[in-house]
Amino acid sequence: MHYVHAKGILSVKNGMNLYRGCSHGCIYCDSRSKCYHMEHDFEDIEIKANAIELLENALKRKRTKCMLGTGSMTDPYIPLESEIGNVRKALLLAEQYGFGFTLITKSSRVLKDLDLLKRINAKTKCVVQMTLTTYNEGLCKKLEPNVSTTRERFEVLKELHNAGIPTVVWLCPILPFINDTEENIMGILNYCIEAKVYGIICFGMGMTLREGSREYFYKQLDQLFPHMKEKYIRTFGSQYELNSPRNSSLMRLFHQICTEKGIVHDNRQIFEYLNTFEEKNNYVQLSLFDEIREK
Ligand code: SF4
Repeated sequence: MHYVHAKGILSVKNGMNLYRGCSHGCIYCDSRSKCYHMEHDFEDIEIKANAIELLENALKRKRTKCMLGTGSMTDPYIPLESEIGNVRKALLLAEQYGFGFTLITKSSRVLKDLDLLKRINAKTKCVVQMTLTTYNEGLCKKLEPNVSTTRERFEVLKELHNAGIPTVVWLCPILPFINDTEENIMGILNYCIEAKVYGIICFGMGMTLREGSREYFYKQLDQLFPHMKEKYIRTFGSQYELNSPRNSSLMRLFHQICTEKGIVHDNRQIFEYLNTFEEKNNYVQLSLFDEIREK
């Protein structure tokens, strides 16, 4: 790991990356792509030394409250978070200044912050987004080696629901010829149904590859799935989008099950939900009630 002094922390859409790089080792990771101009090894995590100071200043200056977000480029709950605690500090600031929060993770470490997630959710809105790609635990360990397995993530989703925290699942990427099966999709959907997730984001059954992510992915394929790389090259060449040959039937299944079970599966609607800041009236009422009781 190494430290840098950052110039800013919040993006125009109020997202933040408290770390850069990730040690979870997913073989398909897009964040490795050259277009992100990471000038250090992907596993050598960059820590923004002044991230929390920058965030506090930014929140103090904001005229209107909004949803804050993290996790689109780096999993916020990498093991280093237990040592550095930047995510927890950011959550504390969100709570203190009355902002909503949403984060994307594959790690059960998110539960360490359940107290804060609940407090933010009581005041405004807190949504946890979790990626699920592979129902089979053995296959999951191969594709996403250093992070909670799908079964563990499912347990986390249930615990979050029981704590009143809404959840959204990202069903992606689905790797052609590897986990693009009906059994895999149904396994994940059944987890989502049981964990009562609010919605599932899915852009299609497939994956993307570009310079940087492609080289790493192919190297891992060579080690884990002999001859698969050659099949990918034969089928997709150097395409950016690699759609599963089963895309149509699996997407039909996905939409059908979500419709039947009342899970939101319109990506636009889910993003709108994630971006909409809400203040809880009952929180205000409860606070008033507490004040009256104390008098
Ligand atoms: S958790 Fe996300 S950022 Fe980390 S390696 Fe996996 S895909 Fe990449």
